[in-house]
Amino acid sequence: MSSINQVVSQIDQARLWERHERLAEIGATSRGGVNRQALSKEEILARKQLREWGSVIGLVPYSDAIGNFFLRYPGENGDLAPVVTGSHIDTQPTGGRFDGSFGVLAALEVIEAMHATGYRPHRSVELVAWTNEEGSRFAPGMMGSAVFRGQRELDAMLAILDSDGVSVGESVAAIRSAESEVCERPLGFSLAAYIEAHIEQGPILELQRKVIGVVSGIQGKRVFRVTVDGEENHAGTSPRAMRKDALVAAVNMIGALHDAIYDSEDVVKFTVGRFEVRPNAPSVVPAAVHFSIDLRHPDDAVLQRLGDSIEPVCTQHQGPCTVAVKELSNDPALEFPVAVRDTIRAIAKDLSISYLDMPSAAGHDARHINYLCPTGMIFIPCEGGISHNEAESCEAEHLFEGARVLAGTVMRLAEMT
Ligand SMILES: [Zn+2]
Repeated sequence: MSSINQVVSQIDQARLWERHERLAEIGATSRGGVNRQALSKEEILARKQLREWGSVIGLVPYSDAIGNFFLRYPGENGDLAPVVTGSHIDTQPTGGRFDGSFGVLAALEVIEAMHATGYRPHRSVELVAWTNEEGSRFAPGMMGSAVFRGQRELDAMLAILDSDGVSVGESVAAIRSAESEVCERPLGFSLAAYIEAHIEQGPILELQRKVIGVVSGIQGKRVFRVTVDGEENHAGTSPRAMRKDALVAAVNMIGALHDAIYDSEDVVKFTVGRFEVRPNAPSVVPAAVHFSIDLRHPDDAVLQRLGDSIEPVCTQHQGPCTVAVKELSNDPALEFPVAVRDTIRAIAKDLSISYLDMPSAAGHDARHINYLCPTGMIFIPCEGGISHNEAESCEAEHLFEGARVLAGTVMRLAEMT
């Protein structure tokens, strides 16, 4: 039996499921979900539980200046860059039991299985739980991986406050003082590869009756803020020809954008999620409107073209008003390396587990780590595609199959010279 088959055979479905149940008790909500905010006392407890599980098999814990958490399983060549696998353990306020936690607990299960067979990989294998993926207590999200990558400044992130005025810096200090035995390590150390297992958070795998999503990449996202300026006037007396109604102009713009961006295949995602009218009074012609645009597409060329069309479409439909379109962020669509995807697919095939190539519609920490090392993601189904919801649910068998594919993939990557 090959060493991959030996290790994969040690992946324990019951243990993996019980650990999800145990972790979900930390920050449990009354409706069966989880509220475990980034760098909170609940996250401190969850990390303590991870350390306890890790210490039984001798894993060494580490943390860095933004609070990212690692457990290291040493390889034969401890000096080589490790293969890192994991996700996050913070949640939305009404989050579920599997978003993020699955990737971290699957990583631990992979290491457990390696340990059980006495297998020592060529490179070390490390579990990671990135800080503040959700961006719920502290905005922006994916903070730990973005700082690790060097895309966001550490000091700027440490200064960010939650709604109670507590800073990221104070919260990282609190977590570090609760983890006095955890060694500190530098941000951005070299990684040989990064694999993130995650629930799909969408309905595709379930609809297609497949167990593993071989993630081709993460769709790109551009965010805009549109400001339409008109003029306040009396709703009863001002003639139409004199009106500068910002609401009418904004509605025309949104209608025209919907038409311009419409695609019959439903790949483009276009959302106006925030819409503010001023003065928002029943008898006053609206003077100003602010609205947001969230635009997403997996093909970067399409995303850039559609995003660039927003300003001209708005200007064409401004009427007597004026419009300003400001871009707040532009995260390009990305594709994970073909070699990593091929490895995941080959392992799924070898294990006779059904799979599907698919892009990720949601952002993940892998978005940032992709720029540091060969990166890939493994999806498993979640019931009804429901996530960021207390009702989020997964089959124990899918967690198990996902962990088995993760084990084979990590082993292949950890043998790279
Ligand atoms: Zn997540």
